[in-house]
Amino acid sequence: MPIFEAAQRRLLGVDDRTAAPHKFKGILCVHMPWGEGVLRIIGIRSIPVAVPFHAEERWAYGSRRGLVSVLIEIDTDEGITGLGEAPAYPSAEIVLTALRSIERFAIGEDPFRTERIAKLVDIVGTCHHVGVTSPALAAIDMACWDIVGKACGQPLVNLFGGPLREDVEYLHYIPQGTPAWMGEQAAQGAAAGFESFYAKVGVADPAADVERVAAIREAIGAGPSLRVDANESWSTAAALRVLRALQPYDIEFAEQPVSGQNLAEMARLRARTGVPLLADEASRTRYDQLDVIRQGAADAISVDNVLDGTLLNMKRSAGICEAAGLPVVKQSLGELGVATYAAAHLIAATPGFRHANQSYGPLLSDDVVEGGCLPYRGGRLRVPDRPGIGVRLDRDRLARYAELYQVAGHEYGCTEVANSTPEVPDR
Ligand SMILES: [Mg+2]
Repeated sequence: MPIFEAAQRRLLGVDDRTAAPHKFKGILCVHMPWGEGVLRIIGIRSIPVAVPFHAEERWAYGSRRGLVSVLIEIDTDEGITGLGEAPAYPSAEIVLTALRSIERFAIGEDPFRTERIAKLVDIVGTCHHVGVTSPALAAIDMACWDIVGKACGQPLVNLFGGPLREDVEYLHYIPQGTPAWMGEQAAQGAAAGFESFYAKVGVADPAADVERVAAIREAIGAGPSLRVDANESWSTAAALRVLRALQPYDIEFAEQPVSGQNLAEMARLRARTGVPLLADEASRTRYDQLDVIRQGAADAISVDNVLDGTLLNMKRSAGICEAAGLPVVKQSLGELGVATYAAAHLIAATPGFRHANQSYGPLLSDDVVEGGCLPYRGGRLRVPDRPGIGVRLDRDRLARYAELYQVAGHEYGCTEVANSTPEVPDR
């Protein structure tokens, strides 16, 4: 049986021994119980890479000069290979260890059964106790989906609900710096066509944040949206004072201005400020999102398949928030083309993503996918129409950045920023 037809049968749950499918417009139409799988995972390969940024990423309490990701390739017995990516959080070594620890739950499994694999990892593998393993599971999950799409001859957007939008909007990322430098970065983003901007704020002197935001708004003009992210660094009193001063600059969202661990405090701040709040550090999994909603702690919520393990978990998150009447945005720990596009398919097929999403594309000097830097147009990425995630690895680039990781990967981790908040211990 051709693999395409076999994959269609598998997707539709056809038991080859008993099914009596018919074709309608070339598509197999059946209603049959679950059958035998047609694909098996036979191996997982992991490749850590380090890719430099154009400019240092700097936020309230850290900085880094590039990002580290672990690319994975999942091989199947039918010769279809799937691509996945795990941002190296909290480190590449931990992601690689997590992959080695949980690959036994994927080897031998049918890659169509992503829910089963996630349950095996979470429950049998006890990973539901340990969120730090989520990026590794997310990489396996997206590689399985890449295989599913390739086996079906369909871009993932068609398997996630079909396109609601043809492209996905992203933020232009402005790291912390002087007001003049941040204004220059904003002007470059505006010249490149971005319509939504994201600036890192949150420092010891709140007045400096006001100067930074003023410089950015002056550079981009009145039209584009401007989001600020303090990464939990303000006290509630400081957040109230700074957000009041920022109101003239038309802030779209204040992302995680205070600790994400205290939802009651977020709710109190939300009741007293006129700036809409976006929950990020408070919102790692779908269970966190439910708590944010119950506490009335935010006006919008970050969701992420990398932090919650699977693409369908991100779809669930968006559904929970949709039911609560709240929009969602995709957050990012720092992703290259494989993870960015994997999520873009799901974003394009899911209601609720009404605001620009976080990506690291504007910061990255290159990528490991064919074509290098991702082709943002007007701040948007077009959803690939090739089967699966729709990207291919550039082997030369992959080798170059794998070597960079081997010789200098330790230089690409987070470095502490002095004089920042929240308080960090002296070393
Ligand atoms: Mg954030």
